[in-house]
Amino acid sequence: MNAHSPIETLVIVGGGTAGWMAAAAASRFLDDGRRKIVLVESEEIGTVGVGEATIPPILSFNAKLGIDEQDFVRATQATFKLGIEFVNWGGLGESYMHPFGSIGRDFDGVAFHQIWGKFRERAKLGPITDFSMGCVAAAAGKFAPSSSDPRSPLSQLGYAYHFDAGLYARFLRDYAEAGGVVRHEGKIAGAEQDAKTGFVTAVVLEDGRQIAGDLFIDCSGFRSLLLGQALGVPYHDWSEWLPCDTAFAVPSERTAPLLPYTRSTAHGAGWQWRIPLQHRTGNGHVYCSAFMDEDEACRTLLSHLDGAALAEPRKIAFTAGVRDRLWEKNVIALGLSGGFIEPLESTSIHLIQTGISKLFWLFPDKRCSAVERDEYNRMMREQFAYIRDFIVLHYKATARDDTPFWRMVRDMAIPDSLARKIDLFREKGRILRYDHDLFDIPSWVAVMLGQNIIPDGYDAVADALDDERVLAALRTLSGNYAEQAQRMPSHAEYIARFCLAPAMEAHA
Ligand code: FAD
Repeated sequence: MNAHSPIETLVIVGGGTAGWMAAAAASRFLDDGRRKIVLVESEEIGTVGVGEATIPPILSFNAKLGIDEQDFVRATQATFKLGIEFVNWGGLGESYMHPFGSIGRDFDGVAFHQIWGKFRERAKLGPITDFSMGCVAAAAGKFAPSSSDPRSPLSQLGYAYHFDAGLYARFLRDYAEAGGVVRHEGKIAGAEQDAKTGFVTAVVLEDGRQIAGDLFIDCSGFRSLLLGQALGVPYHDWSEWLPCDTAFAVPSERTAPLLPYTRSTAHGAGWQWRIPLQHRTGNGHVYCSAFMDEDEACRTLLSHLDGAALAEPRKIAFTAGVRDRLWEKNVIALGLSGGFIEPLESTSIHLIQTGISKLFWLFPDKRCSAVERDEYNRMMREQFAYIRDFIVLHYKATARDDTPFWRMVRDMAIPDSLARKIDLFREKGRILRYDHDLFDIPSWVAVMLGQNIIPDGYDAVADALDDERVLAALRTLSGNYAEQAQRMPSHAEYIARFCLAPAMEAHA
């Protein structure tokens, strides 16, 4: 075999969000007219059925696939998401917003949060999020897409989507099948491996059919049929930092107003998500089973719904962590088969997207050279670790001591990488940002300040600016956001005007 033995058959195992995202992207970027792309899934097993909130990079995934936003929103009963509201996280009764997009504007190269830090007491400034277009719009229940005109406050707005996970997989399936992906229905019972190399050569279905391939993308969910089961790549457990291990999920009736953001409300041993869609609201309670039993977890979830439940709560158990390697031999795991970090910042679908783009960048030939594999594994390990630290921050930086769970997470040891970040921020508000860190400075600032990590000082460079000029600019900025928000349609009006799902037209 030489470097020019291209992959002839790519097999995707699993048809959840990960499987169909991979299939859709492969049909767009890997179809050379000869390569076969096949996907195997089992309707009987089904999908995990959650995963409905996203972050802004999903816009670029859709754009690369040539997906029209309004078609996409209509087909998936989607709504727009300007950020996440965190209730009861820093302390009971407190709330803050983690908005997408930027916060304020840097002045002559000085980061906005340093300027805010310098003037916050002197000029009696409100929370830093008053200077976020996303927060101002979210508070008013408004939505409009970002603008490419840098003079418009809308250029500072970032957004993502909430969508129905089942409809999203269906949408991508139609896209992928139209692009030539061949789907096989059936339950996989095992895998064949080459005796010498250990490479997977085929998956074997319960009815005896064999589906052979050169490269396998394992999207089989928590089962991890190929990477975990066939190849035995160990799971690196992160529950010492992320102890939540169970979720109950339940849909409820849609209520008004249609909020343009996700809400995360902390409870006694975890937190509850609220994701507004066009046709219903998605809810779930993520908690630590060592501190709360199932009955109480379910009751807590149901008693915090703002509309009638539309089904029985469904239990999902998990362990936070990641496989030691996400690419082993000729198998790459995408989605839950590779690892899972609780959905507090809606990062799992993004990790699938990142995995796809890095895999396509390093797309191998039949040998799957070690250099490509190792680089993929290094980059993906890094991505998981950055996200882990960001999520752990939400637990560690709490003043809550009302339950044993909150006392435990508040006092737990944290990864050194996060400890350094918190210490630096506490000193003079500096954000230590590593290359390729998914979350940018405004995200770290919003969560650190939102959870009451207040810097002792500010960066000396802020003193080089002219104070009067800066104060005048601050007043103009906040006025601009408020005026812009007034001109925007409500979230529900925007959807009704441009992208109402056909099934909702009767209710409009
Ligand atoms: P699955 O959806 O489980 O799909 C697995 C596929 O493999 C299915 O098609 C199944 O039929 C198939 N399969 C398995 N075994 C076999 C077999 N033997 N034979 C044939 N086929 C088989 N992510 C976000 O980005 N935002 C969120 O808000 C979010 N919320 C979440 C909430 C919870 C409680 C959980 C647990 C996860 C959440 N996630 C979220 C993560 C998100 O749900 C997943 O990343 C996403 O759905 C991808 O799942 P998957 O495709 O890897 O697995």
